[in-house]
Amino acid sequence: MVPSSDYTVKNSLDFLENISNFNIKPSECQVSFDVVSLFTSVPTDLALSVTLDKLKHDTTLHERTGLDLSHIQTALQICLNATVFTYNGTIYKQIFGTPMGSPISAILANLTMEHIEHKALATFHTPPRLWLRYVDDTYVIIDKNMVHAFHTHLNTISPTIAFTMETEKNDTIAFLDVAITRQPDPRLSTSIYKKPTNTDRYLHYTSHHPRHQKLTVAKTLYNRATTHIRNTAVHKHECKNIARVLRNNGFPRNLHHMTRNTITSQNRQFKSFTCLPYVQGVSERLKRILNDAGVKVAMKPLKTIGQLLPKPKDATIPQHRTGVVYQVPCRDCEMVYIGQTKRNLNSRLKEHKVAVKNMDVNKSALCEHVLECDHRNNWNDAQILKQEPNWSKRFVFESCLINSISNVLNRNDGKNLSAVFLDILRPTSPSNIVH
Ligand SMILES: [Zn+2]
Repeated sequence: MVPSSDYTVKNSLDFLENISNFNIKPSECQVSFDVVSLFTSVPTDLALSVTLDKLKHDTTLHERTGLDLSHIQTALQICLNATVFTYNGTIYKQIFGTPMGSPISAILANLTMEHIEHKALATFHTPPRLWLRYVDDTYVIIDKNMVHAFHTHLNTISPTIAFTMETEKNDTIAFLDVAITRQPDPRLSTSIYKKPTNTDRYLHYTSHHPRHQKLTVAKTLYNRATTHIRNTAVHKHECKNIARVLRNNGFPRNLHHMTRNTITSQNRQFKSFTCLPYVQGVSERLKRILNDAGVKVAMKPLKTIGQLLPKPKDATIPQHRTGVVYQVPCRDCEMVYIGQTKRNLNSRLKEHKVAVKNMDVNKSALCEHVLECDHRNNWNDAQILKQEPNWSKRFVFESCLINSISNVLNRNDGKNLSAVFLDILRPTSPSNIVH
């Protein structure tokens, strides 16, 4: 259910299209109203009633789902009232606003904004002549004398949703990445808006990234200059500026030639898709081979800055981690058992312990070893070797371990591993599992 208001813009290109033929009167001014922390300010009961009302008038709803309105209402209520998170070991419940981090929040917030803007515009005596919105940010053209009255009116629509106001400075205002300036003629001219925090730092040309990704940086900057700037002299000036910025980011001078000659594979038809970690010199060749076999390839960096920085969330204690590959050593010999579970390690260990206690060899290979050799398991030294939520990857990792170490007491060699890999996974040395 995508919001489809006449007032919303999809992106800056859509916005530029909307204002391309708009003339501003001398009695009018450009204003921007912005909602203060939108997601956490939207009352859930309002969001719910707005959404249900929209669904009630949706004539194609039954084509898309077998659920009726009451089912959807219950499901939404659960989603809206079940946001809990831990911080410093304490569990908190979110008691106001749409759930932080939930995919439904953006949709509900957008629908609520749509409702608020309709109400605000319909109930004001002299509404703005132009009102365009992107999520919680607006671009408005309104009579100069009405600006403050309209701002006050906006803030009366919902008690929790507060709008801040920004007026044009030196005839210019910013919306998304566009700077809009009023001309005396009385058209609006546009150029690129950069935030005061902008440092003109982009992906450096010497970075360990595929070449096409680096060239995309340059292409995007030049494309944006073309879409955002109509004035030839301003455009020329911006292109000179881009060339300087790119040189500062290590890009070579003959860039125009390079960007024109890059081959795009966008129009090709592929049978499947894969994402490979990028290793310079290797990934390019693999990509060519896979492309020839009809596989579309995307590259991702091996390590990102985000992975290197500390995580803002509390770490889950190992016993609570779910989807893990683990090992349980034997107390009396060098053998280890390798296993995987989608639940947490403690739950799985309990099952092993019960099987050993009941001498149920069918349920656990650990039990078989205990009975055959009269050994005991070292439950205390059981450890997680890897956490992997994807079951298929978890099975492969488990199989690789079982096949690559000699002292495993598993009965089978795991699953999901093609025999072609077995030769490179032959047992090498006992113990010392590398993970
Ligand atoms: Zn043993």
